Amino acid sequence: MKMKYIIILGDGMADEPIESLGNKTPLQYAHTPYMDVLATKGNSGYLNTIPKGMHPGSEVANLSVLGYNVAEVLEGRGSLEAASMGIEIFPEEMVMRCNLICIENGKIKNHSGGHISTEEAQILIQYLNEKLQNDRLGFFPGVSYRHVLKLKGGNKQLDCTPPHDVPGSAFRENLIKTKTPQAQATADYLNELIILSQELLENHPVNQKRKTERKDPANSIWPWSPGYKPNMEKLTSLYPIQTGAVISAVDLIKGIGIYAGLKSIDVPGATGLYDTNYEGKAQAALDALKEHDFVYLHVEASDEAGHEGDEFLKIKTIEYLDSRILKTILEETEKWDEPIAIAVLPDHPTPCKIKTHTAYPVPFVIYKPGETPDEVREYNEFSVQKGKYGLLKGDEFIKTFFN
Ligand SMILES: [Zn+2]
Repeated sequence: MKMKYIIILGDGMADEPIESLGNKTPLQYAHTPYMDVLATKGNSGYLNTIPKGMHPGSEVANLSVLGYNVAEVLEGRGSLEAASMGIEIFPEEMVMRCNLICIENGKIKNHSGGHISTEEAQILIQYLNEKLQNDRLGFFPGVSYRHVLKLKGGNKQLDCTPPHDVPGSAFRENLIKTKTPQAQATADYLNELIILSQELLENHPVNQKRKTERKDPANSIWPWSPGYKPNMEKLTSLYPIQTGAVISAVDLIKGIGIYAGLKSIDVPGATGLYDTNYEGKAQAALDALKEHDFVYLHVEASDEAGHEGDEFLKIKTIEYLDSRILKTILEETEKWDEPIAIAVLPDHPTPCKIKTHTAYPVPFVIYKPGETPDEVREYNEFSVQKGKYGLLKGDEFIKTFFN
């Protein structure tokens, strides 16, 4: 019978030895019997997911896991989010993430317009469209402060500042600059838009109401991370799968999945945090596996715990992934007629000590029914180094998995 495939990705799950854990990593310290069963029955290795010189972002790492040449296909964040919002991108169109931010006395107070609600933000984005939309330009409302802007004929060689990187600094110093002179007209146009948006939004009723409620107004747009439509070949045309699905609470990952030709499946209660609906995700993955040949199941929780620098929370998220997702998937698929190949890995480490991503290789395990297992009996950063696959890079992991 034809093999089906599932990748279970624990975002940022890999880490470094931590003193408070007796110099173990959270993966070593956590009680993970099902990951260890998988390691015992399967074959392990480690994977380089961040190409040399690239920023260890989740988009880079997840594109690598799926076997894409990141330098060739990586576009801005807006392009990926647009896909998860159902916005089609046409040739010649540039797409950007467009935050609604709060500016106070000429300085960026926060990147989120005081964490504006989705309902309020939609009114503001619609208003901006009424006033500013034209043949070339349009705004698309998303969730809370996260929206998308499309500009036909825009040149993406821009030097933009992510607003969350510069709270407290003067917005004028952070206006859009260019990487090439050819992009100057695009930069000038967008910078004018930022100023115009401030005039339009400052006294909009939504913001007046927020101010009387002592909330920060969302009084400026902030476009950044420009890109075009990613030139990604579908996984279904590269590998022996007819259809596939992506399950994630994160727009970036959904977007990558959609461009990779996967169907995005939403799970109620999937929050991207440690209180996410683990059982719901496991069930959705099983349902999707009945319908599709491949499922990419992404769980964000351990990355969040890493960013918070909370090793015990991270251990909990790893144990939840093990006992509330992997256990169910292992036990259920064992009863099925068709063989199911299962892989577990993170996209990148998010060490609790430094609270951000690193570019170190990540541990992976691949279990395919019928294959002879290697010597590895548990799953963590160190055990897998004795695994059959050794250190893989580029598209070697996905080719090995689908082979
Ligand atoms: Zn990540």
